[in-house]
Amino acid sequence: MILALDLGGTKHTVAVHQPGEAGWRAHERVFSPPGADAQYDLETVVALGRKLTKRQPISAIGVSFGGPVDYISGTVHLSHHVPGWEGIALGSRLEDTFGVPAVVDKDTNAAALGEYRFGAGRGTSSMLFVTISTGVGGGWILDGRLWRGAGRLAGEIGHTVVEPEGPMCLCGKRGCTERLASGPFMAEDLRAGLEATGLDIPGPLTGQRVAEMAAGGHTMARLILERGARALGIAVGNAVNLINPERVILGGGVTKSGELWWQEVRQAARQTALPQIGLEIVPAALTDDAPLWGAVALVLEKDD
Ligand SMILES: [Zn+2]
Repeated sequence: MILALDLGGTKHTVAVHQPGEAGWRAHERVFSPPGADAQYDLETVVALGRKLTKRQPISAIGVSFGGPVDYISGTVHLSHHVPGWEGIALGSRLEDTFGVPAVVDKDTNAAALGEYRFGAGRGTSSMLFVTISTGVGGGWILDGRLWRGAGRLAGEIGHTVVEPEGPMCLCGKRGCTERLASGPFMAEDLRAGLEATGLDIPGPLTGQRVAEMAAGGHTMARLILERGARALGIAVGNAVNLINPERVILGGGVTKSGELWWQEVRQAARQTALPQIGLEIVPAALTDDAPLWGAVALVLEKDD
């Protein structure tokens, strides 16, 4: 049996899976209180893991982590949301605690593997997974294996530049896909646009709110949502020209922005990709448990 951990920003999930079965033998989700640090989060998931594996002996641990990780050593570079994770040897800590091998990877790689094994990527041998939520990230499956890249930085489609003269991204470059297509940046752009034109700002703005306003006929919200969708479509089209995957799978909160968003993404990708290239863009099949299934898939991939 496999112990699967999903360490996110504000919530963590711990589950036990028996390969070959459809669901979970045990499954628990906890929310981190505000101000929680790495030590607190690690103790919380270890305690949960101990509880869930008391009567179910495990042979391996898979971990999806919300931030960059050195896949080989299992050491965390940093968390995007929680302080104190820098340099923590998460893999070996878990191995010492539970006495079984552990494999740790970043959540986008885990989710890509999860979709490939258990979700919308089943039946393919090559696919690109992209998640569009607070950030934009991705993972590649090539010839049935996760492609991590020479420096294990593959899949950073969020920093594909689509508007070289565009607004500044967190990474220091201009016009990155993430800068235009992620939920918080679309909300920021709408706020700035409304302020600049002296229009009312209707309450707290989020990516979801931008999509709702666009669907309700708000012109500026619609333009910003379309711009983000187009940026993503261009990035996907370019990536498809380069690697020619069988399928592209899109997941994350922003993909729930409605038909307008999907149309714009597909159209921009089609216009960017070579006319003769096959282009299949579909929604992710795994929902909140995608990283957890990915954690299971990380263990299975290692055994292959
Ligand atoms: Zn960037």
